[in-house]
Amino acid sequence: MVSMKKAKLVKFDIPPHILLVVEGLESAGFEAYIVGGCVRDLLLGIEPKDWDVTTNAKPEEVQKLFWDSVYENEFGTVGIKIRNQNADRKEITEVVEVTTYRIESKYSDKRHPDEVKFAKTLSEDLSRRDFTVNALVLKVGKNNELEIIDLYYGQKDLENKLIRAVGDADERFNEDALRMMRAIRFSVTLGFAIEEKTFLAIQKNANNLKHISPERIRDELVKIILSPTPAQGIELLQKAGVLKIILPEIESGMDVMQSHHHYYGPYNTVYKHLVASLEKCPSEKLEVRLAALLHDVGKPKSKRGDGENATFYNHEYIGEQIVKNILERLRFSRCVIDRATLLVRNHMFYYNVDEVGEAGVRRVVQKIGLENINDLIDVRIADRLGSGVPKAIPYKLRHFKFMVEKVSHDPISVKQLKLNGNDLMKELGVEPGPKIGAILAILLSQVIDDPMLNDKEKLIKLAKELVKSNVEDLCRMAEDKIKNEQKKEENLIKKKHKVS
Ligand code: ATP
Ligand code: MG
Repeated sequence: MVSMKKAKLVKFDIPPHILLVVEGLESAGFEAYIVGGCVRDLLLGIEPKDWDVTTNAKPEEVQKLFWDSVYENEFGTVGIKIRNQNADRKEITEVVEVTTYRIESKYSDKRHPDEVKFAKTLSEDLSRRDFTVNALVLKVGKNNELEIIDLYYGQKDLENKLIRAVGDADERFNEDALRMMRAIRFSVTLGFAIEEKTFLAIQKNANNLKHISPERIRDELVKIILSPTPAQGIELLQKAGVLKIILPEIESGMDVMQSHHHYYGPYNTVYKHLVASLEKCPSEKLEVRLAALLHDVGKPKSKRGDGENATFYNHEYIGEQIVKNILERLRFSRCVIDRATLLVRNHMFYYNVDEVGEAGVRRVVQKIGLENINDLIDVRIADRLGSGVPKAIPYKLRHFKFMVEKVSHDPISVKQLKLNGNDLMKELGVEPGPKIGAILAILLSQVIDDPMLNDKEKLIKLAKELVKSNVEDLCRMAEDKIKNEQKKEENLIKKKHKVS
């Protein structure tokens, strides 16, 4: 029985379907309580994302009472489907998770209990929960009166904004190593500190995160990165000894000094610069925040020379490969990987008023994609502010945005040419083959230089000149065009490397 001394009456709006689930279990003679993150959130005045109910009914007994449910996992959680009764197809609007009281059995592998052991009492169940603020319970009484049950002084920790392990922190992290990342995640999402013994236990056990699946680590990392204070999250992971296990590539920038004017600044190591870039990242998108955090991970490997004059040529390409490896290792989706690597590869893009004309801007848009330009600008802003420069968007960057807008309707792909392969074959009497491809590539390059040329008659006229050359010469011309443009940009970026 739970002692009344630790119980207190409170008032909250609980959704009717949650009350029905609790009532359904209680009227069948079982105990049932609202528990976990939702109680914590209610007490903090945050709307709960999901609701959890804990009970002494076994999963089969829960399923018998609620036929429209699924036995969700090996931990004895039954998901009760809540359907929209007003809609024709009565689609599922929510799944309420009902979990049978459990206690921890032995964890030989630091992540899974060797067997799932059901417990008899609520207090046994609360003892296996991760943090005191997550071990709070709401008991629904007569007339839906709500009473808080708080066996581990979770309310006091809520008041003091503290993440504290339930019971012995060392033991709890030895049972399930992911709890260490959860502690840091709750710390940054709630703005709480981690209680000292709990933090010391993380430092002691951080190595055990090696045994945790990449997907579970990724899910916590994503929540940290999308939190209001992601940079603080990375710093905590570092101080706790977790970063070197999950993202050694970032940790390795700790003793790599930057060059030039960053050399004596507050962000004088690659690590400090990356953390500061994440902190200053203006975007809330996951890929952009990842790119801000990772954009210079190629620097340690590309560094040549020492001191202020060290260089980091090609760090964006080396970095792109490292970022791909990191994100694949953590099982991020293809879409996130592609977008984050694109931003890292292109983060050194060059723009300067009067130096890069409209054609140059069209080439940047062609390479990066119009839909990614704003994200790339956000990475640049993060990079700048994370280097300690005072102004996020200098005139140069505002002008670049203006130029992108200006050229945004200009043709940048073969598909946008006012003449296609079939037109060419008809007009020139050429068979399908590499010659047509080469002519189209040259025409596109000319149109990127001068969009006024994108006119069917003008293009045919140009093509009639081109077709006189043999296929080898045309292919070489097309290739040379591309190489020339690449060289031009490389030189500009090299120049930029020298100053940033
Ligand atoms: P969120 O806001 O992310 O939903 P939450 O606290 O509700 O946070 P969940 O993962 O939904 O977290 O888990 C619900 C509850 O189950 C937690 O509040 C905690 O009591 C318990 N719990 C979840 N994961 C663990 C774990 N790895 N070890 C111990 N208890 C856990
Ligand atoms: Mg939850």
